[in-house]
Amino acid sequence: MDLRPASARPGEQQVTTADAFRDVYGTGPDGTWAAPGRVNLIGEHTDYNDGFVMPFALPHTAIASVARRDDGLLRLHSGQAEGGVVEVRLDGEPAKGWAAYPAGVVWALRDAGHAVGGADIHYDSTVPTGAGLSSSAALEIVTALALNDLYDLGLQRWQLARLCQRAENVYVGAPTGIMDQTASACCTAGHALYLDTRDLSQHQIPFDLAARGLRLLVVDTQVKHAHSEGEYGKRRRGCEDAAAALGVDALRDVPYEGLDEALARLEDEEQRRLVRHVVTEDQRVERVVALLEADDVRAIGPVLTEGHTSLRDDFRVSCPELDLVVATANDAGALGARMTGGGFGGSAIILVDDASADKIADAVTAAFASGGFREPRVFVAVPSAGAVRLE
Ligand code: ADP
Ligand code: MG
Repeated sequence: MDLRPASARPGEQQVTTADAFRDVYGTGPDGTWAAPGRVNLIGEHTDYNDGFVMPFALPHTAIASVARRDDGLLRLHSGQAEGGVVEVRLDGEPAKGWAAYPAGVVWALRDAGHAVGGADIHYDSTVPTGAGLSSSAALEIVTALALNDLYDLGLQRWQLARLCQRAENVYVGAPTGIMDQTASACCTAGHALYLDTRDLSQHQIPFDLAARGLRLLVVDTQVKHAHSEGEYGKRRRGCEDAAAALGVDALRDVPYEGLDEALARLEDEEQRRLVRHVVTEDQRVERVVALLEADDVRAIGPVLTEGHTSLRDDFRVSCPELDLVVATANDAGALGARMTGGGFGGSAIILVDDASADKIADAVTAAFASGGFREPRVFVAVPSAGAVRLE
């Protein structure tokens, strides 16, 4: 199996994106920007509970070549979308389909009082879509960063992330947390981003796997179960209801030491399961941070697997494909594994020793074949840079 870091071709992609912009619009762009997808190491379904997360950026990026225009027109084109150029009038009907993501960013900027007059944009992305690797946040952040520069808005990265989250929540209508956009905007190479989603305070935690003889494999199961969005909303509401029942602002306010007492106060079994996951998951983030700071990277493996068990049994957002990745990888000698992202399909991560990476990847692929599942895509995740202007 070829486990080279896939799709890490920003240099090449940057040139072709600017060229493609010329082909589409007939003139050159004002500049080209890139924003990555992400993998979440630990801290799942905590970001809408004011809790902790720990994503890192992938080498896979959305690249945008952009020209400013000031006539109230937004023109959008993507190398990954059918249907040619989408035109959106900023004072007209909202955009639909994929164009809602970038149009939502322009809407959020303008709604916050920033004078954005329009743009021509061509996108080219190597972030797999719908794989739980945040292609949507990459698309939003690359748009926001470009407009921030071209319109001299002076916004900081965490502010761009907030506006992009608002675009996705309100304009697109997906009730996601703040993790994905912050990861794409704020991650740095060789680090995982320890983020407090309540006050958005951040710490870059060194996460250099190669130096420790380790690798993190991403397994994109290539499945997305149809009910994922509805189930996400249900979990989110369930967490809010449980917080209300416990009299706290958010589940983050239930301390790990007070978990048993909190569970005893809840009558609803479903709420108990949600609370148990969120509270133990926040504690797992803290444990992973402590282990990484102590330079004991190998020891995070079991914590990842514990997180998967909690997502599978308590939060119930896993699926047979993700469970198969985790069980197969651990049986084949992985240090640990878990689903990553929202769940119901998408991707899983596996922490492995260099020497066993191929064997474990092959075992997962073979298990998928004999289970009758679609062949998964497996690649090595190298903690990479956040969003950047390329030219
Ligand atoms: P994820 O963020 O996990 O990849 P989402 O469902 O949140 O999954 O976002 C995927 C959607 O984002 C796609 O269906 C599409 O509408 C949009 N999208 C992402 N990247 C691109 C792209 N390069 N071109 C056009 N649309 C894109
Ligand atoms: Mg997304």
